[in-house]
Amino acid sequence: MKIRFKIALQFSLIAAFILLAFSVTIYLRADYVRHRNYVDRLKKRAVTTARLLVYVKEFTPKMLKLLDRNSLSRLNDEQVFIFNHSDSLTFSNINKIPSNINIALLDKIKKKKEIRFQENGREYVGLVFEGKFETFIVVASAIDSIGIKDLKSLSETLLIGFLAGIFVVIIAGIFFASESLKPIQSINQQVKKISAQHLRERVNEGNGKDEIAELAMNFNRMLERLNLAFEQQRSFVSQASHELRTPLAAIKSEIQLAQDGTQSIEEYKSVLATLLIDTDRLIALSNGLLQLARSMENENVDNFIPLHIEESIFLANSELKMAKPDYKTEVHFDRVPIDENSTVVSGNEILLKNLFLNLIDNACKYSIDQSAEIRIGFDQKFVIVKISDSGIGIPEASLEKIFSPFYRADNAIQANGFGIGLSVTQSILKLHHGTIDVQSAVNKGSVFSVKIPRIYS
Ligand code: ADP
Repeated sequence: MKIRFKIALQFSLIAAFILLAFSVTIYLRADYVRHRNYVDRLKKRAVTTARLLVYVKEFTPKMLKLLDRNSLSRLNDEQVFIFNHSDSLTFSNINKIPSNINIALLDKIKKKKEIRFQENGREYVGLVFEGKFETFIVVASAIDSIGIKDLKSLSETLLIGFLAGIFVVIIAGIFFASESLKPIQSINQQVKKISAQHLRERVNEGNGKDEIAELAMNFNRMLERLNLAFEQQRSFVSQASHELRTPLAAIKSEIQLAQDGTQSIEEYKSVLATLLIDTDRLIALSNGLLQLARSMENENVDNFIPLHIEESIFLANSELKMAKPDYKTEVHFDRVPIDENSTVVSGNEILLKNLFLNLIDNACKYSIDQSAEIRIGFDQKFVIVKISDSGIGIPEASLEKIFSPFYRADNAIQANGFGIGLSVTQSILKLHHGTIDVQSAVNKGSVFSVKIPRIYS
């Protein structure tokens, strides 16, 4: 069901309930007032009859009956019965006493002094009348046909009013719900037109104040983030293919050259050696891309375990030394750990090893003496690892960009690399809720500081 019909329905149900309660209250109140006024009149008539009978000696029951019948204030189908204290009928304006005027009723009147009730469409009043020497019980009844007719017409008016009210409320409900949902409909129409190719488009933010404007603004912000992510992905794909094309083109031309069959064995050997270098470069690049993809997978977080950060550092260090024996590295503890938990973080061992491998490799790679110093420290909340070198440093203008995929500073082009390592490092840190900070001066060296939350802080 469309939301505007839902709102209209709820609105109508509430209004119907209020109208119904209102109509029923009016009806009940009108009936109560009618009954009370009518019985008051009936009581007056009964008391007058009793007074005449008891106090005016000239009035015999027969005369009273005649007077009663001709009285102008006589009520519709009025019946008056007067009983003496021993329950024998002293006066009645009709010949036959109805069955509900019985001893039980008289007893009840004696007990309560006055009773009022309604039975078979007749209004009744029963009361005790104190005479000079004797007590009488007076019962009077009549049919309030005019009052009942008025009540019926009131109920019809209320019913018509109720139905008309509901009709108006339903129409008004649909109208107002449609009006208030119009901005959403318009956003809906605009959103339908936005596809992956049109992520620069924005929806109308209306008055910029209400909830719908807030929704539109949030949607626009989401589009901005999506657009950025799409653009990053696009540039990543084009940069990755560009990086792949260069060694592939070199391999192709080397093979083409070798194809003419005129080279000497030595020349073929040299071609094969170059081919091997280019293939290694390709393998390194695809490994880097794979690492980057893996470091972004959130599923890694599922197999995080508590581990001592120094273990990942030692692992990275020994792996690096095996691959590049010329590298010189030193690992120190900034301060002696207070207990064995001081350097424990929650993480993935392989990812953390790769993180330090990249940073130590860079430090050695970009230093003439190929050496790096690793300092392990901690504070109340974090384990802090600083990897420093006395190498070429990073130009200030490049400091912001070195974490973007494929970015390489101008002074680093001579060294091997693809500009992926630091992006991988940053993604790994993001998974570990860590941060990285760099301080560097050209030709003086760089310090990369990694902070990862401690588990037992
Ligand atoms: P790569 O080292 O393969 O180029 P990285 O992503 O690891 O890729 O690094 C990106 C860039 O950051 C490098 O090209 C270099 O310009 C700079 N860089 C990183 N580490 C250092 C360092 N220790 N000293 C100087 N420059 C560095």
